[in-house]
Amino acid sequence: MFINIPSPLQQLKDFAGHQVLIKRDDLIDPYVSGNKWRKLKYILAAANAQQKNHLVTFGGAYSNHLVATAAACSKAGLKSTAFVRGDAVACIHNEMLMLCRLFGMELIFTDRLSYKNKSSLFELRFAEDQNAFFVDEGGASPEAVKGCAEIIAELPTDIDHLFCAAGTGTTAAGLLTGIHQLGLKTKLHVIPVLKGGDFIADEILKYTGSTDQLVLHTDYHFGGYAKTKPELIDFIKTFTATEGILIDPVYTAKMFYAISHLHASGYFKPTEKVVALHTGGLLGLMGMKDKF
Ligand SMILES: *Cc1c(COP(=O)(O)O)cnc(C)c1O
Repeated sequence: MFINIPSPLQQLKDFAGHQVLIKRDDLIDPYVSGNKWRKLKYILAAANAQQKNHLVTFGGAYSNHLVATAAACSKAGLKSTAFVRGDAVACIHNEMLMLCRLFGMELIFTDRLSYKNKSSLFELRFAEDQNAFFVDEGGASPEAVKGCAEIIAELPTDIDHLFCAAGTGTTAAGLLTGIHQLGLKTKLHVIPVLKGGDFIADEILKYTGSTDQLVLHTDYHFGGYAKTKPELIDFIKTFTATEGILIDPVYTAKMFYAISHLHASGYFKPTEKVVALHTGGLLGLMGMKDKF
């Protein structure tokens, strides 16, 4: 499968004299983008090892994970099916689900209540299907953590502060695992994009067994998951026009906003090396066209 790894590391232009580097995982692939590829890599390998050729997964109507799974499966010659939370009629103009279909994914629309029990949805429909392989929402799994840990090996070893956005915290767990494995001094700064993001620390702890070197910044959620405020939208416009790099309102914009805010308040020492992980997910912009 052709995938752009290692992804480039480049310098941002405009952090008021401070060197901020950006790890461009958004350039791995336009559709199997960013951390979603990192998460799928060993899931695909596990399915392959068990000789399963059909990935069955779960997501909301604007899920980057669904598009990534659909695209990765078509590249790998696998079938894909997704249980989509929501109503088919409401999703008729949804660009991301259109892409999923184009990549050959079968979509099963599911009401919110049944969606909650993913293993029973899987059992009901696919218990008899020897080829079906269960992939949790967002790809959350030990395989995903392993894939995300590999990002650290592609980065310089002398980073002081590494930043990432978090939804479930799986990506962050992988990064911290990588940092621990290589014995680096790097601090991992995590920006939960949901309200009440303290739970992310427990999620990370489940996988890593220690939250040493983890710094959680829970005040940059802008009202909650997929919520924005005019100042975040303005930030995206300025950032994109200045840097020539797209960021999305759901994840990466909240992380870059946090870095910029911390920077402006003198959080970083001038000599410290700061790296931001661009986790991709730019199709998230499609769900918010009316905001721009
Ligand atoms: C899914 C996603 C995340 C969140 O990853 P988790 O492992 O769930 O924390 C971050 N950034 C982007 C762009 C994503 O699509």
